[in-house]
Amino acid sequence: MSSGTSSPPDETAADPETSETALETARRQLEHAAAELDLDPNVVERLRHPTRVQRVSVPLRRDDGSVEVLTGYRAQHDDARGPFKGGLRFHPHVSEEECVGLAMWMTWKTAVMDLPLGGAKGGIVVNPKTLSPTERERLTRRFAEELRDIVGPNTDIPAPDMGTDPQTMAWFMDAYSVQQGETTPGVVTGKPPEIGGSYGREAAPGRSVAIIVREACRYYDKPMDDLSVAIQGFGSVGANAARLLDSWGADVVAVSDVNGAVHDPSGLPVDEIPSHDEEPEAVTENAETVIANDELLELDVDVLAPCAIGNVITGQNAGAVRADLVVEGANGPVTFAADSILEQRGVPVIPDILANAGGVTVSYFEWLQDINRRKWSRERVNEELENEMVTAWNAVREEYDERDVSWRTAAYILALSRVAKAHELRGLWP
Ligand code: NAD
Repeated sequence: MSSGTSSPPDETAADPETSETALETARRQLEHAAAELDLDPNVVERLRHPTRVQRVSVPLRRDDGSVEVLTGYRAQHDDARGPFKGGLRFHPHVSEEECVGLAMWMTWKTAVMDLPLGGAKGGIVVNPKTLSPTERERLTRRFAEELRDIVGPNTDIPAPDMGTDPQTMAWFMDAYSVQQGETTPGVVTGKPPEIGGSYGREAAPGRSVAIIVREACRYYDKPMDDLSVAIQGFGSVGANAARLLDSWGADVVAVSDVNGAVHDPSGLPVDEIPSHDEEPEAVTENAETVIANDELLELDVDVLAPCAIGNVITGQNAGAVRADLVVEGANGPVTFAADSILEQRGVPVIPDILANAGGVTVSYFEWLQDINRRKWSRERVNEELENEMVTAWNAVREEYDERDVSWRTAAYILALSRVAKAHELRGLWP
C-alpha cells in the first residue's frame, strides 16, 4: 500500500513533484488516514475545513514615514481537543490556503503527541529581510492588535515560525497584555525565558529527533554504540540532534549546511563544528574534504536524518538512498513520490509529525508554566519531554504493529482517531 501521506513542506507552498498545495496535501493525508478507520463521514467532512480564517489588513509605517498596508492571516483548523496552537510566519509566500493546510497539519501534530491543543497557523505576507528592527516591532504589535479577538491563552496560542523569533513573540505578548490590562504570558509560546519562555525550547525539536532515532533503532535492533548517522542541516534541529546522538555513543559521520557536507566514516567531532546559531554556514569552513548535500543523502549509513528544509528526498534520488532508516527532522523533507519509493524498497521513514514534535511539546510546557506562574528547571523540561516522546513513540508503534501501514500512516491514523473521538464525544452541531 502506498503511504500517501507525506507532510506539507513548510518552506514552499507546493510539492514540486505533484504541484500540490499545502492544503491539498493536508486533505489527502486526512482522507488517506480516514480510509483506514471506521469514522463518522460527517466528522471527516468537518475536518476538511478550518473552523475560522481571519484575514486582516496590517498598516505598517516604514522608517521613512511612508505607510504600506500588508495582509495577514490566522487560520484556526480545529480546537476539539484544546486551544488552537501554531506558528506565525513573516514570509512573502504566506497565503490563506497555505495557512489552512499548515493549521490542519498542526492539528495532527498536537494530536499525535496527545497534547490538549488543536491546530492553527498564520502570518503576514512580507519579506522579513526588508524590515528594520523598528518596522518589525511596529508590524508585530499592530498584527497582535488585529488578532486580539481571536487569540488568547485559552483560545489560540501563536508561536515563532519562519521569519519570526523569540523577540517577535515578546512584542506580541506585550501588545496583547497592554490591550488586556494584565500581563498574559500564556498568549504565545517561544518567548525569551526572562518573560515566561521555557528553558529547553530551542533545543527541543532536535532533542526529540534524537529520542526518536534512539527508539526506532531499539525497535530495529540497532545498538547505539554501533550506529552511523548522517544529518543534513546543522541548525537548531540538526546540531542539537547530532550532539545528543554523539553523547549517547552514536557515530555522526556526516553533517551539512547550505554550502556542503563534512564526512568522516569514523565519526565527526560534532561539538567542535559550529552550528547555524553559533556561526552561520560555517560547517565546511575548516574541513579538508567537503562533499555535496546530495552525496550526504546517499551515504551508506544506519540512519539518515534530513534536518534542513523540505522536499530534499524526491522521486529522483529516493532510489539512491542507502540508509537503513530515515528519520524526518525537517518538515516535509521526503516528497510523496519518494515516500512510495522508499516504502517499496523497505526503507522505513519515521515522520516529522512525530520526530520533530519536541518543539510543540515544550511549547505546551511553556504554556503550562505561564498559566501556573511557575517556572520549570531545564532538567525537568528535558525529563518531561523524554516521557512525552517515548509515550508518543509507543502509541505510534502500536498502530504500526497492528496494521499493515507505513510509520507515517500509523502516526496519522493515531492523530486522526484522537481528533475524531473528541468530535464524536462533544457532538457535531448540525
Ligand atoms: P535553522 O535555520 O536553525 O538551520 C537550518 C540548517 O539547514 C542550516 O544549517 C542551513 O545551512 C541548512 N540548510 C539550509 N538550506 C539547505 C540546503 N538547501 N541544503 C542543505 N542544508 C541547508 O533551521 P531549524 O530551526 O533547524 O529548522 C530546520 C527544519 O526543521 C525546518 O524544516 C523547520 O521547519 C523544521 N522544524 C524546526 C523547528 C524549530 O523549532 N526550530 C521545529 C520543528 C521543525
